[in-house]
Amino acid sequence: MAFQLPPLPWSSDALEPYISAKTMSFHYGKHHMAYVNKLNAAIENTPLAEMSLEQIITETANDASKAGIFNNAAQVWNHTFFWRSMKPGGGGEPTGELAEKIVAAFGSIDAFKEEFATKAATLFGSGWTWLVDSKGSLEIVQTTNAGNPLTEGMTPLLTLDVWEHAYYLDYQNRRPDFIKTYLDELVDWEFAAKNL
Ligand code: MN
Repeated sequence: MAFQLPPLPWSSDALEPYISAKTMSFHYGKHHMAYVNKLNAAIENTPLAEMSLEQIITETANDASKAGIFNNAAQVWNHTFFWRSMKPGGGGEPTGELAEKIVAAFGSIDAFKEEFATKAATLFGSGWTWLVDSKGSLEIVQTTNAGNPLTEGMTPLLTLDVWEHAYYLDYQNRRPDFIKTYLDELVDWEFAAKNL
């Protein structure tokens, strides 16, 4: 069965003024949609068409001959996860077990935010910055292009898309401003806690 573009968890103007409806119309309506369509076209009438998205990602991750399929499958997964990593009225601070694990791993919530922001800002070119659970301890991971920590056996808790298409209409070249806004105004800590 072909993959579908999953519905957004909020309306396309819900993250304004931080992420505009115009950005969402391109990022979700064009980019995310295109990854879904290209994935479906690439796996049609192949054994991959019977697999889950996660299975396709892990199955094709280390196969250079299937790089195109991996890239589109991972981009479908990554974007779906990115939308769910944000909510209107997000930001603030994590609580409970998640907060304890962040403090244990990074020293403090502020230190976590600083390291996340630095890693997101210094990722060269296109990619993603993730908070992951790696064998019980939390880490911040950068992946380039469509890379996804599932292929390294890690559990993603949150992600931030730092491809230029994620922020250029609203922030132009100011990626650090976009990162700060994500952390201060958008990140959904309840979603991250559920993934723990
Ligand atoms: Mn994107």
